[in-house]
Formats: sequence, C-alpha cells, structure tokens
Amino acid sequence: MPASEVRHCQNLVGQDWRSAVGPRVELVSPWTGKPTGSVGLSSAVDVAEVVEAARAALPAWARTPIKERVRPLTRFAELVQKNAAELSAIASLESGKTQSEALAGLQRGLEVVEYAQSLPNLDRGGALEVSRGVTCEYRREPLGIVAGITPFNFPAMVPMWMFPIALTLGNAFILKPSEKVPLTACRLGELLLEAGYEAGLFSIVHGDRSAVEALIDHPEIRAYGFVGSTPAARAVHARATALGKRALCLGGAKNHLIVAPDADDSLTVKAVVDSFTGCAGQRCMAASVLVVVGEASRVVEKVVESAARLELGREMGALIDRAANERVRRGLERAEQEGAKLLLDGRARSAPAGCEGGNWIGPSVIDGVTPRMECAEVELFGPVLSVIHVDTVDDALRLDQSSPYGNATSIFTRSGRVARYVAERATSGMIGVNVGVPVPRDPFSFGGTKDSKFGHGDITGPGGVELWSNLKKITSKWSVSEDANWMS
Ligand code: NAD
Repeated sequence: MPASEVRHCQNLVGQDWRSAVGPRVELVSPWTGKPTGSVGLSSAVDVAEVVEAARAALPAWARTPIKERVRPLTRFAELVQKNAAELSAIASLESGKTQSEALAGLQRGLEVVEYAQSLPNLDRGGALEVSRGVTCEYRREPLGIVAGITPFNFPAMVPMWMFPIALTLGNAFILKPSEKVPLTACRLGELLLEAGYEAGLFSIVHGDRSAVEALIDHPEIRAYGFVGSTPAARAVHARATALGKRALCLGGAKNHLIVAPDADDSLTVKAVVDSFTGCAGQRCMAASVLVVVGEASRVVEKVVESAARLELGREMGALIDRAANERVRRGLERAEQEGAKLLLDGRARSAPAGCEGGNWIGPSVIDGVTPRMECAEVELFGPVLSVIHVDTVDDALRLDQSSPYGNATSIFTRSGRVARYVAERATSGMIGVNVGVPVPRDPFSFGGTKDSKFGHGDITGPGGVELWSNLKKITSKWSVSEDANWMS
C-alpha cells in the first residue's frame, strides 16, 4: 500500500479483511492534519470472529515441530526487509516520527524476529536421568490463543516484540494495535499472510478500550502482552489476572539521566539530546529528568544549544495528535507557574513548511525544577527535559529511587566505580552507562520495574519465551534396574 493512499483499516479474520461492527474513526496524519484513512472500532462480536479463526488454525500449528514453525518467519523477515522503505513510510505518516526513526524501529523489531528464528537452537529443553532408569525432561508447549495490545509510538516494533516469539512457540496470535496507528499493523498482517502463515494464526482486531476488554473477557484467550500507559497497563493486568489469565503489561515511564561531575561533555550532550528529542520524546525510554550533580551543571547550556539547532520535520518529528500537543503545552505552562525557568521553549518553534496543520512543538528545556513539581513527576510524553541540580550522586539516586516508575536510569561518568555504584542502586529495570536510551538489545530482555511494568518477566528475549509458553515436565521410566532405589 503506498503511504499516500487513504485506506479503511479492517480486521484480519482468517484470510479475510472485514470491517468491525462498531463505529468508524477518521485518521489524520500528525505531520499535516490531513486524512490518512479510517478504522473501525471492534466489539465482542468481532473478537469472537477472530477467536473462531484462531481456534480452527491452532491444533495443526501447535503440533508442527518448531524447526518447521520458523520457516514462515524467515520469509516474513525477508518480506519486511524488501518492503522496509514502504513500511517505514507508513509508520512515519501515521505516528509522526521521522522516516529514519521508523526504519530504526523496524530494524529493532527484526532483531526480535532473528531471536525467534534462533529458538530451535537456543531453547532445546533439557533432560536428566534423575534416578536409576528414570528420566525427567522439559517440553515447552504453546498456550493456545494469545493476544498483544500495543501503543501508538512504535507501530511496527512493539507488535514485533510479541508475535514473532508467540507464533514460533506454536500459539495463534491476535494483535490489537493502537487505534491511532492501524495502517502499519494492516501492512504487517498482509506480509504475514504472504509469508505463508495459515489463516487464523495471526489476526488483527482494531479498536479501543472496548476491544481490549472484549479480548480479555473472551474465555479462550489465554495470555496477554500489553504495552501502553500506566493506567491502562494496570487496568489490563488487573482484569486479566482476576480471570486467572497470564498478563505482562508494560506501562509509562519518567526516566532519570544522572550526570556526574566527571562526565565527558560531548558524549553526554549528544546522548541527552538524542534521548529527549528522539521520536519527539514519545518513547518510554526517553530522557525526562536530567539530574546534574554539582559542577556537571555546565552541560545544561550545551544541551540547550544543541537541542535549539534541531530542524523540525527532518531531525525531529511531530506529536501524535492535538491532545498530546495541548498536554505538553499545558505541562510547560504549569512548570512556569510553579517557578521553573524555560531555558528553551518549544512553543516558540513553528511547523515545517507545508506541515502547518500538524502537531508540532520544538524541544524544551526546563531549569530550576524541584522534585515535587509536575514536570519532575508526571510523564509528559513530549520533547521536554526537566533539569534538577543536586550536590551528590546519592542525592541523584534518591530522586530516581523515589520515582513510582522504573523503566530506565542512565549515569554519565568517566568512572567505572561511580557507574557500578549507580547501576547497582538505581531501581529501574534498564540501566544505561553513558547511554541515553538504554534499550537492551536481543537476546537481552526488555522490561522495567515498579509502575512501568505489571506482571512477572520481560517482553522480549527469554522473558518473551516464558510469557508465551508453558514448560511441561515429563518423568519416564522404561525398565526397573536391579539396583533401583526408592525413587526408581
Ligand atoms: P495507551 O495506554 O493510551 O494505549 C495503549 C493501548 O491500550 C492501545 O492499544 C489502546 O487502544 C489501549 N487502551 C487505552 N486505554 C485503555 C484502557 N483503559 N484499557 C484497556 N486498553 C486501553 O498508550 P499510548 O498513548 O498508545 O502509548 C503511550 C504510552 O505507552 C506512554 O505512557 C509510554 O510510556 C507507554 N509505552 C511504554 C512502553 C514500555 O515498554 N514500557 C513502550 C512504549 C510505550
């Protein structure tokens, strides 16, 4: 599908594309405000249809050996690579991120595909003679029908955190993409069918909260991966686990980047600016609070100078919608009312030429922030950096530790001792040392702590394998040897 085409997004049911029974929502591009398509909002009726298609496909797939189950995934990876420019253009168009950011997200998603392709070699189970003539063996089994609910900010990558592993382990997967970015999901669905997945193994059900609740309440769906804001993650986890189901729900964040006095200035400034402005700050791993220790405050001016030079439209994209733009602007107003000072005010920047109808705001840097100000505590999800000055690394750590969120913490220093000290004491799930966006790459798993994650485990790597499967334990005895002991 060309990125310029206006398209109505339908559910993928078996091999058919069908409109949801619920109301249709118009989609507009964050870049220009111009129409890009529409999407139907699904209800329990639509969910029942995709579950029926998944149920029909599941038994044969679950019995297929894993070495065969990776074959369509290999074809899918080839198709994604072949269509990478088109997929990135669609993701950029509907999410507001730049094309190079969209391409990077796709490549990161492909790393999860590569991990899933290697599962037959990585995850070989285990067997041990536990007693004379008695063997115990692990057998990894699929759960059945599972679902993934994903946010707007990574239209390809976050779905690709989930379905490659879930499908390879023998499940049927239902994707409920964000209703703000359904176009990329539809294209991924087309490519999965083209790759040779049988009808019903991968389904798409579009919609909002009602569709999610219908997915949770459907008795045949066994497990959920969720990525989105903290209130929604908490609600999805509570609803699914109350029904005795498995759920891993990743939520929002408020990430602290700590700069020690001995930090390398140029490395730090580049990492900080990339982190808080990349994807226009709409990343759960984005820098949000810069905690400068003592004389490290010298880097703040350089961060401001560098961020002020970013060209909107080329180096930084747009916010997802008007509501997001208003939320970020209100956050800046509130910071001023609370007594903080805007060293860089993104509201002063105008939209790139030809994009006047879009959701544009430039990077902002707020100085003089204190820990109880709104901009220090609330996830603004925009290109805003709040700067807090402290005297010691321990003061910085206390701020990080008292945050209700726990996705990422980074330390910038030349000292291995300071880096280790912070890495061991910070309470986030993902730590960066001189890295502004410390996303663990596969085979390391992705996942935070505290209000950034509800449920046990992680979403990618070995965590994903545990999420989408059960380990059966088989104990066998084929003969009784003469020297058998009580266990035999
Ligand atoms: P969102 O919570 O509004 O939506 C995420 C998904 O949940 C969508 O599919 C949406 O339709 C659905 N949803 C929304 N409200 C719901 C509810 N009450 N009950 C059930 N489902 C609901 O999030 P978003 O605005 O699309 O994405 C941005 C948020 O996601 C930010 O908070 C960001 O930090 C977070 N995020 C977290 C991670 C992570 O790995 N921790 C990654 C990406 C984004």
